[in-house]
Amino acid sequence: MAKKTIAAVDVAGKNVLIRVDFNVPLDENGKITDDRRIQMALPTIKSVLDRGGRVILMSHLGRPKDAPDAKYTLKPTADRLAELIPNKVTFATDTVGDDAKAKVAALQNGDVLVLENLRFQPGEKKGDAAFAAELASFADVYVNDAFGTCHRTDASMVAVPNAMAGKPKACGFLVEKEIKYLTDAIGNPQRPFVAILGGAKVSDKIMVIKNLLGICDKVLIGGAMAYTFSLAQGGKVGKSLVEPDKVELAKELLATAGDKLVLPVDTHAGDAFSADCNKVVVEAGQVPDDYEGLDIGPKTAELYADLVRNAKTVVWNGPMGVFEMPPFDAGTKAVAQAIAESDAISIIGGGDSAAAIAKLGFADRVTHVSTGGGASLAMLEGQKFAAVELLDEA
Ligand code: AMP
Repeated sequence: MAKKTIAAVDVAGKNVLIRVDFNVPLDENGKITDDRRIQMALPTIKSVLDRGGRVILMSHLGRPKDAPDAKYTLKPTADRLAELIPNKVTFATDTVGDDAKAKVAALQNGDVLVLENLRFQPGEKKGDAAFAAELASFADVYVNDAFGTCHRTDASMVAVPNAMAGKPKACGFLVEKEIKYLTDAIGNPQRPFVAILGGAKVSDKIMVIKNLLGICDKVLIGGAMAYTFSLAQGGKVGKSLVEPDKVELAKELLATAGDKLVLPVDTHAGDAFSADCNKVVVEAGQVPDDYEGLDIGPKTAELYADLVRNAKTVVWNGPMGVFEMPPFDAGTKAVAQAIAESDAISIIGGGDSAAAIAKLGFADRVTHVSTGGGASLAMLEGQKFAAVELLDEA
């Protein structure tokens, strides 16, 4: 069922507490190196400000150890936000302390206050009710626009909205879009529905593979994951990255999945983990002893690209090889290009596949690039998120 969005909440003259994901990358001087996460939150923030609301922003940044740490202050994000919007933006030097309280009280309609890092407080990771009650007391409306954290049960995601009983609890536009694609498009897909799963480890993706085998028409496997499946089939994998303790699991999946599970037919292997190693292309399961598989081979790339071209819905999570190290980016490139050229609804999971599609310049040629690595994986696993479930229905 669809969730209420911020557009449907009357915010004029109200304090609106928005959980955003301002966990931006910083350089050693504390300068923001990529402000996309701030940019992506702007539609929700502006929607409130333009209608005369007062915005209070809360986020985490990095992994401070439950205490203030200058390295992880959110101040740079407040400064950047002030450059992006004409409104008054202030910054509270604490999260729920005296400075935050005074600055919340001083807010005027159309103003923004950015609270200091939630994770400076031990209550955030613990989901502490007393900490949550203090944050909840700041506002009349709660908004979740932090998709990257939606699979977590931190205080700002669950205890805060729970402490705001009777007050509107809505999703922001970013979370609305993520839910739309990751649950709706996948829950009721146009077929053929093809999933492409890659990356380093079977263990990270096993629940995703299982869930998607139940929904998709084909699940294509790439990346180092493929070599654990190859081992399970009795193949030779040389020095490839494998998980021997997952071979039994791979056997089970192979036995139950039938021809839904598609494995590489060839492998691009190298005799060292480096761009200038000696390289060979071999049939899958034939990796020489001194070599390791570093990418899908050209026949597999063509096969996967063909399956993508015929699909109506495509979900992709995880690179096909070591895409950071050319020429072992070829398989990932071929798959990304096929997705970009297809008319299918295409959904790219966060993390490395999002980075790969951006690096290759195809990000604006796909339907949706998820902003949440862990959260998008958890959604593809079919998990329900408490932080989303508790929001008001539309
Ligand atoms: P993940 O975070 O599980 O999506 O894995 C992404 C990482 O897997 C990337 O850094 C890739 O370089 C790595 N990867 C993909 N294929 C291979 C491979 N054949 N051997 C080693 N690492 C790989």
